Amino acid sequence: MIRLENVSKRYGNGHYGVIDVNLEIHRGEFLFLVGPSGAGKSSLIRMLYREEVPTAGEIFLDEFRLSQLRRNQVSRLRRQLGVVFQDVKLLTNRTVFQNVAFAMEVVGAKSHEIQKRVPQVLDLVGLSRKRNNFPHQLSGGEQQRVGIARALVNNPVYVIADEPTGNLDPDTAFEIIKLLNEINRRGATIIMATHARDIVNQMHKRVVAVENGRIVRDEARGAYGYES
Ligand code: ADP
Ligand code: ADP
Repeated sequence: MIRLENVSKRYGNGHYGVIDVNLEIHRGEFLFLVGPSGAGKSSLIRMLYREEVPTAGEIFLDEFRLSQLRRNQVSRLRRQLGVVFQDVKLLTNRTVFQNVAFAMEVVGAKSHEIQKRVPQVLDLVGLSRKRNNFPHQLSGGEQQRVGIARALVNNPVYVIADEPTGNLDPDTAFEIIKLLNEINRRGATIIMATHARDIVNQMHKRVVAVENGRIVRDEARGAYGYES
């Protein structure tokens, strides 16, 4: 379970990303984080994968206290989390296979584990035939599927995605959501910040809305709730 207790994030310039947020996310959930630009979605997401730490309050993720991780806990935490970015961030001089393998190398996986596991996730995202392609030889949707394969390769409990369909056309975006839904069905918890109104409205998942750094709505089977 992920639990945010009275979490605030104040940046160096005095701006607040989020203010006094309380939130519980249970294993197996699929949660959309919505709200206008500047509401605090990315601030919240970045604290979940410990890119940033709260300036007040605490985030608990299973056995971890995120603001007080000991060094040897950081790599254990990284194995529990898969992160998907809007701009994917693939290594341009490495193939699809090598990009996904790299995520296992950085957490110290053994070569034989990598050779066994990478083909499994490439198969899951439908990219087995493109394993030797370089990123520039892929469409935008395919690049994001590599991003998802990379996020999944260490079998994370939590998959955290910040606008993963933001650069994709509507049909491709729905393909990516179907994939995330399948991953959720197989047991992963999905937390996704998004402006994709049609997707949120069709999925009937939990919706948490953030405005001005605060949670203003939390619905079990929610809708997007904004005009655009
Ligand atoms: P969203 O993801 O919903 O668009 P953000 O979390 O990016 O919202 O931003 C929330 C608030 O925090 C905004 O006022 C934004 O200007 C501020 N903010 C975000 N990141 C930073 C940063 N690195 N430094 C200073 N202020 C920031
Ligand atoms: P989309 O229809 O999503 O826009 P593209 O037209 O970019 O996709 O690509 C269609 C297919 O051609 C994709 O499967 C992609 O992998 C392949 N492809 C595109 N560009 C290249 C390239 N430079 N080298 C090899 N394969 C490519």
